[in-house]
Amino acid sequence: MASLQQRLPENVPGDFFVDSTCIDCETCSQLAPGIFRDHGDQCSVHHQPETATETQLAMMALVSCPTGSIGTTERHDAHLGIDAFPLLLEDNVYFCGFTAESSFGAWSYLITRPASEGGNILIDSPRFAGQLVKRIESMGGVSRMLLTHKDDVAAHELFRKRFSCERVMHADDGARRLGVERVISGEEPVQLDADLLVIPTPGHTRGHVVFLYRNKFLFTGDHLAWSPQKQTLTAFRSVAWYSWPEQTRSMEKLLNYQFEWVLPGHGDMHNDDASTMHDHLARCVSWMKIVK
Ligand code: SF4
Repeated sequence: MASLQQRLPENVPGDFFVDSTCIDCETCSQLAPGIFRDHGDQCSVHHQPETATETQLAMMALVSCPTGSIGTTERHDAHLGIDAFPLLLEDNVYFCGFTAESSFGAWSYLITRPASEGGNILIDSPRFAGQLVKRIESMGGVSRMLLTHKDDVAAHELFRKRFSCERVMHADDGARRLGVERVISGEEPVQLDADLLVIPTPGHTRGHVVFLYRNKFLFTGDHLAWSPQKQTLTAFRSVAWYSWPEQTRSMEKLLNYQFEWVLPGHGDMHNDDASTMHDHLARCVSWMKIVK
């Protein structure tokens, strides 16, 4: 619950505000850039919502904030934000919203599939918020939980307990210690289903993996994201905890695959045709090779 007493001075006057508990995960500024902005090491409101659409976007950011740092001075129906999630992106792929503080506000995604095709898949962990869990349950629950790396596991145990889902994670990120049911090892890709591939991408962490679904959706964790500033794909040098040269090598491997969506844990998502996406990825690899 945001506190008016801790309202940041960077907010423009008006209804919506961010308080000083903001951890600068940038969920709000990515989800509603017309309303929230990163003003340095925290986010604030730079434009107060004026339309119903803007108000809904602001409420979606409010319920997605991992630290409850967004508040309002006026009363709003919380369901404006709550009921928007999971948010359909394309086909049967959804963004979950409701980020968790323990994963620093990392984004998670849901793939819906009939039970005959293996059931629903959750990629990384949202907050275990009752409203979201009920909605996921009404959409068929979770049969499998794919974990890109150790930073973004958040409420994985609670989802496992609630849905008895099989969790998938790489051994080098502590999968056995976490009690994960299906442990991936080595650097070779692993075919989980006919249209679902695990690709090990060491770099950000030693056991980081990305997941490729239908040769269209690439779930990238903290390996790869879109940069609105550079207008191309990028990686995060300052958080290459394991090895930047390894991450560069892992990135180069992805040039062998086709995808139209980059869906990260941190950073912006991006959608483009496969050929343009490949060009962006090649540009990213070239840039990574010259960055020390
Ligand atoms: S979503 Fe919350 S914690 Fe994240 S940047 Fe916005 S206000 Fe800060």
